Amino acid sequence: MIAFDNSYARLPDRFFARLDPTPVKAPALIKVNEPLARELGLDPADIDADVVAGNRIPQGAQPIAQAYAGHQFGHFTPQLGDGRAILLGEVVGRDGVRRDIQLKGSGPTPWSRQGDGRAALGPVLREYLISEAMHAIGVPTTRTLAAATTGEWVFREGALPGAVLARVAASHIRVGTFQYFAARSDMEAVKLLADHAIARHYPAAAKATNPYRALLEAVVARQAPLIAQWLHIGFIHGVMNTDNCAISGETIDYGPCAFLDAYDPAAVFSSIDQGGRYAYGNQPRIAQWNLARLAETLLPLLAEEEQAAIDSAQEALAGFGPQFQAAYLGGLRRKLGLTTEQEGDAALVQDLLQRMADNQADFTLTFRALCDAAAGPEGDAAVRALFTDPGAYDAWAPAWRQRLAAEPAADRPAAMRATNPALIPRNHLVEEAIVAAVAREDFQPFESLLAVVTRPFDDQPEAARYALPPRPEQRVLQTFCGT
Ligand code: AMP
Ligand code: MG
Ligand code: MG
Repeated sequence: MIAFDNSYARLPDRFFARLDPTPVKAPALIKVNEPLARELGLDPADIDADVVAGNRIPQGAQPIAQAYAGHQFGHFTPQLGDGRAILLGEVVGRDGVRRDIQLKGSGPTPWSRQGDGRAALGPVLREYLISEAMHAIGVPTTRTLAAATTGEWVFREGALPGAVLARVAASHIRVGTFQYFAARSDMEAVKLLADHAIARHYPAAAKATNPYRALLEAVVARQAPLIAQWLHIGFIHGVMNTDNCAISGETIDYGPCAFLDAYDPAAVFSSIDQGGRYAYGNQPRIAQWNLARLAETLLPLLAEEEQAAIDSAQEALAGFGPQFQAAYLGGLRRKLGLTTEQEGDAALVQDLLQRMADNQADFTLTFRALCDAAAGPEGDAAVRALFTDPGAYDAWAPAWRQRLAAEPAADRPAAMRATNPALIPRNHLVEEAIVAAVAREDFQPFESLLAVVTRPFDDQPEAARYALPPRPEQRVLQTFCGT
């Protein structure tokens, strides 16, 4: 018995379409995230194959596909919507937080256009692994409650096994949801949506002089540190369209996402990101661009007079740069073991990153190896070996050591190990797990990898292989959306 309380389904009809998931031939559970189920106050036994695959609608659910629009690679599409996802409903967890339970890959909806409404097994496993790894690292994200295979094929460039993912999110309200109504000049709906988002995510904004200005500021204040956290772990979202930018500040929509191996600010993995719009180092700029699109939808609510509204929006948006920089530098200080702030820190960090880029140093391993180097120069060998020219590290390390000497060293390596993950879902490991499941119906590599990446800060000697960068022939050069 799931105690649903569906606030979004109480909004006006034009916010969604009511419809049930399309049943599938032979649902079979891949996995239920039991700890998450319990956090949500659910009995894991209620999350069975029929519920996850959409063959049985649990009591109290009010299935809807949500309407939204979005800028995709900078081009506006006034009508996107859930083309292959259905929101079953909302539950209030043990922590008092309301969350959506959504099925992704659950069949066609009025927004499917040419699509089949389905998801292939590979991307479902990728989302499961990466969303749960991100959560374990401490990055705000949607999560995975369960996954099931459908017993049906989906056709992409070839036939692939189908699957459904049960996704949990603080909400699925996107910048694109606001755009959907603003593009129709339906300001009544924009206001209703804003009020809903405030009540759900930013209740303090309701008490502000202008709650909508406060909402915009609050979304900026969540997106800025979110993007900083992505950069801190080498995460590349890959498709930062405005419909994939959540008002809650959670990372959402794991499609062609990837993690850096060697540090490269220009890294792009997505096959459809030809211009590098969503490259690793471009993500802060794009987030700010997306937030400007949100601000545009709110203009009539910010002030009666047009110029005053624009000024208000610009003031709120101007908060992004400083908040991002503070979060970005703050996190990098922690990664380097620094607990105080000094003038030259940004330059010290930048110097290291430049040397890492010039020397193809593995991003994750470099920072993890620095945890040992912080204890003393005995640790240097492991770090310098990660640079094509080890001398590039030698030339940087003395400045770092000198800076470290300027502050107390208590528990420094341990503190660094708690912020620099040892184990991330590297692209080639995710690929390996997907291939085993898709080609051989072997889910053991998926299970093993999930177990490893959900303990990212623990040295796991038995899992040493997972910490290594790919061998040249294992390198993933491109990631794809729908496969
Ligand atoms: P995304 O690139 O995942 O953000 O998706 C962009 C839009 O395409 C959303 O409206 C999705 O619902 C829709 N979409 C993606 N894949 C499918 C599919 N297989 N069938 C129907 N709609 C889809
Ligand atoms: Mg999307
Ligand atoms: Mg997607």
